Amino acid sequence: MKLTKNFLRTIPKVLLHDHLDGGVRAQTVIELAKDQHYKKLPTSDADELTAWFRRGAQRGSLPLFLEGFEHTCGVMQTEEALERVAYEMIEDMHSDGVVYVETRFAPVFHAQKGLAHHTIVKSVLRGLERGKKKFGVEYGVLICAMRNMNPAISQDIAELAVEFRNLGVVGFDLAGEEGGYPPKKHVDAFHYIQRENFNITIHAGEAFGKESIWQAIQWCGAHRIGHATRLTEDMRIKDGEVLSMGTLAQYVLDKRIPLEICLTSNVHTGAVKTIAEHPFGILYRYKFRVTLNTDDRLMSGITLSDEYQAAAEHFGLKLDDLEKITINAMKSAFVPYKERIRIIYDVLKPGFVKAREHQKAK
Ligand SMILES: [Zn+2]
Repeated sequence: MKLTKNFLRTIPKVLLHDHLDGGVRAQTVIELAKDQHYKKLPTSDADELTAWFRRGAQRGSLPLFLEGFEHTCGVMQTEEALERVAYEMIEDMHSDGVVYVETRFAPVFHAQKGLAHHTIVKSVLRGLERGKKKFGVEYGVLICAMRNMNPAISQDIAELAVEFRNLGVVGFDLAGEEGGYPPKKHVDAFHYIQRENFNITIHAGEAFGKESIWQAIQWCGAHRIGHATRLTEDMRIKDGEVLSMGTLAQYVLDKRIPLEICLTSNVHTGAVKTIAEHPFGILYRYKFRVTLNTDDRLMSGITLSDEYQAAAEHFGLKLDDLEKITINAMKSAFVPYKERIRIIYDVLKPGFVKAREHQKAK
């Protein structure tokens, strides 16, 4: 049976890798620009702006992909704007059937008008909490440091993340342009997070090779990897079958290190040519702990249901596979174990039972 978009929207989903500034509604960008006298938008028509973001993001290069963020971040410079974007993100998750989301952002990008980092985090948390109360979507926040910035800033951001650990922040990430900016430059910030017994995910192996994934795990202590697209460089593959694995790939497999796979985004940034050629298929078949993610919904013009559908279509996944991937994602979330178990047993499993009944009845 074909898994339609409408059907996929009804199944409970979990999203671990989604950028707050990459998923703002185009209409909201326009309204916020007006409020804040931000004059740099290329158009004030929502459809045209949506098309502009997509065109800009789909040029096959990560640095070009990142250009659109100038505008989304450009209008996320007040407490009200941050709260609104966070609240609407939760509403959009609800419409898409996402029951748990980890949203991430870099506070340094929202301080252009002088907001303190604390105020930025608090404003986002306010919006998320309000959204959770209204729509019932649970969340965790990941605070990002930027790999091209001074490692001393990363240390401050790591301390900020830990400070908010019981208030909704669940981990620390390193994001941004990968080439030329190895994660190990920021090793002090990561060691601080480790000493605090806190959580780490790192963007690695998207634009840069397996070395970056190795550094993220073995130097920086990453508990999850964002993308990991180029992990297959550590495997000998012939005709879609893995002949042998290097020690890094074997380690990732054996330690069950979760991989935050972003199919469409990887095509848009040029990490892979087509979804069909994405290593996700191999990683899933060889039992890596893969999850499906959106990365930047506005720039890529997608929802998580779209990603589930793309995975089903290109890699022949059935509902059982999607359930497994969703449960994998929830197991890999950074909220406490008890919370994860509750969502798996009270929300995800019953949700998939219902979906299966619905499928049979058709
Ligand atoms: Zn990302």
